[in-house]
Amino acid sequence: MPIATVNPTSGETLKTFDAFGAEEIERRVAAAADRFRHYRTTGFDERARLLNRAADLLEQDAPDIARTMTTEMGKPVAAARAEALKCVKAMRWYAQRAEDLLADEHPAEADVTDSGAAHARVHYRPLGVVLAVMPWNFPLWQVVRFAAPALMAGNVGLLKHASNVPQTALYLEDLFRRAGYPEGCFQTLLVGSGAIESVLRDPRVAAATLTGSEPAGRSVASIASDEVKKTVLELGGSDPYVVMPSADIERAARTAVTARVQNNGQSCIAAKRFIVHEDVYDTFAERFTAGMRDLTVGDPLDESTDVGPLSSEQGRADLEALVDDALERGATALCGGARPKEYERGWFYEPTVLAGVTDAMRIHREEAFGPVATLYRVGGPDEAVSLANDTPFGLSSNVWTRDEEDVRRFVRDLEAGGVYFNGMTASHPALPFGGVKRSGYGRELSGHGIKEFCNVTTVWHG
Ligand code: NDP
Repeated sequence: MPIATVNPTSGETLKTFDAFGAEEIERRVAAAADRFRHYRTTGFDERARLLNRAADLLEQDAPDIARTMTTEMGKPVAAARAEALKCVKAMRWYAQRAEDLLADEHPAEADVTDSGAAHARVHYRPLGVVLAVMPWNFPLWQVVRFAAPALMAGNVGLLKHASNVPQTALYLEDLFRRAGYPEGCFQTLLVGSGAIESVLRDPRVAAATLTGSEPAGRSVASIASDEVKKTVLELGGSDPYVVMPSADIERAARTAVTARVQNNGQSCIAAKRFIVHEDVYDTFAERFTAGMRDLTVGDPLDESTDVGPLSSEQGRADLEALVDDALERGATALCGGARPKEYERGWFYEPTVLAGVTDAMRIHREEAFGPVATLYRVGGPDEAVSLANDTPFGLSSNVWTRDEEDVRRFVRDLEAGGVYFNGMTASHPALPFGGVKRSGYGRELSGHGIKEFCNVTTVWHG
């Protein structure tokens, strides 16, 4: 894939970049390794000062970098600004909390005396150079949610961003440089995915994190495991959105629209499969479909646009193939189901609701990365749980209910890294984020996230 900014609204190539050659990659890996030797010894105050400075700069830059993101990958510009400000919040959160999150832990003396210890503690040390392979869908947030905790823990970062967001990738390197981070702390590698293997195998690189598709995750994880290096994987999702009879149906239907079409439908934690109890199915289906039909599809730089184009021609082709397969096998489009007629250029797709989906259809098991919802009718909680779990993915899940027994049941049985009641899944710095099954492993954000790239060190005194 060429490294280029191609505007998804017009299909026009705006800027192309040459991939770094072997010499430049070597220079940057060496700079990261050199820097780590010093940066690992800095105190939390110094790390927090740098990260807060980066947050302040990003806050000032938000309107401009938002337009760049929109131009590179098509998200509505208001959402792009919100993404930048969410990054600011996460940076400040980690700047303030990292020291506490990584404070030494002291096991009770009574528990360790039979180890012969006079006293013992657990101390968190950084791992080293961490390679981050990141996707285009939240081009700032995906990177910052890795970088903020990693830098606060004393690691240094090498970013291999998706090839269609090179300007955002270069902006991030520049942001950390302007904030005062010394050379080598955070660098962008402008390379295609073919260059990853040698970087990952380099002994100076300690670990990797990847957010993206399952094939990309599998490739990075298998190379890393061959080198016995730690990885965190955040892959796709096909989150269920369960609506039970006791739910506030009006709110559930309104939130369902946002949960499905956020980021033009290209979010791993977007609700994708809407599983509705038969008692409230008709009302929910009617309101949800009306909400999806009412969305404004258009130029993402226009403030009034709800849904912009998909990020790439391939992304739209993949989505189209999933919908066409479902329609050919008997699903019904309650709305959408095609490209909007008014846009000849750009990679637009109509917000779509599919009913009558069966397990013979690809969309039943594959991730629909665009504004397409599948709607299922169920007879009760058993059927809801079994349908919700009938997917290779297990990222997050949403349940609308006011029944305590339902709450207990869904928390116990849903195979996912999160269960969100009466709302939609959204990441937050204080809450762990990640999945099970084919959605990956490890956690980002919160204290769990910052510890993923730490050497959990036992300090024992006899
Ligand atoms: P990819 O997984 O291909 O891209 C994500 C990142 O991984 C990019 O930096 C990409 O680089 C890199 N990459 C791709 N292939 C490899 C590889 N073999 N080894 C190492 N790195 C690799 O996602 P796509 O953009 O192609 O999207 C395809 C599907 O993936 C989507 O439809 C969606 O289902 C899922 N996805 C999930 C995301 C999430 O948030 N969990 C985000 C994006 C996609 P390069 O751009 O140079 O290829």
